[in-house]
Amino acid sequence: MGAARILIAEDEDGISSFLDGGLRAAGFSTKVVEDGSSALALARTGEFDLLVLDLGLPTRDGLSVLEELRRQGSRLPVVILTARSELDDMVGGLDRGADDYVTKPFRFEELLARIRARLRPGAAEETELRAGDVALDLFTRRARVGEREVELSAREFALAEVFFRNSGGVLSREQLLSHVWGYDYDPGSNVVDVYVGYLRKKLGDDAIETVRGMGYRLRL
Ligand code: CA
Repeated sequence: MGAARILIAEDEDGISSFLDGGLRAAGFSTKVVEDGSSALALARTGEFDLLVLDLGLPTRDGLSVLEELRRQGSRLPVVILTARSELDDMVGGLDRGADDYVTKPFRFEELLARIRARLRPGAAEETELRAGDVALDLFTRRARVGEREVELSAREFALAEVFFRNSGGVLSREQLLSHVWGYDYDPGSNVVDVYVGYLRKKLGDDAIETVRGMGYRLRL
């Protein structure tokens, strides 16, 4: 099972390292950004399961990041970090169905509870990802091609899942590497190409297209 991936947008080093360390220890995989524009750009990649968003951020404030995400149709769950004094400004922009907030200073357990509550509904809804005649069962971690069951290793499944969640989009080697193997993995490694080869053997040679100089794209 891949760990849920949490994007942390927070410009205060002390808070971001506290969050980063705590969430990793709780079993999540994390990425920290320090400004609103980067937060928006990364939140739109589809690589994350939840965004922890500070309101006071350089380049673009958190509320504007949230509004733009929603305007573009993103349903990424967002947990907002806010100073008590900012609370009034924020409540108007909050979509209560998808978002939550924690006021600073907060206890880590409080944030963790909010994050778990926001992650759960999406995880329960979705049991299968489909593209063409291929289906990925997110519970059993198996794939089906037409009527045929196909065994995928844990890495192969994780890689397939990234492609299915970003169907039609080009994914760079770096994105795939960081998503499936972790941000600390050697960027010079050819492991992505090797595993794309494995997936082609199992899902069909044309399932994944090489986009020269850019990366790979699902073609199912
Ligand atoms: Ca801040």
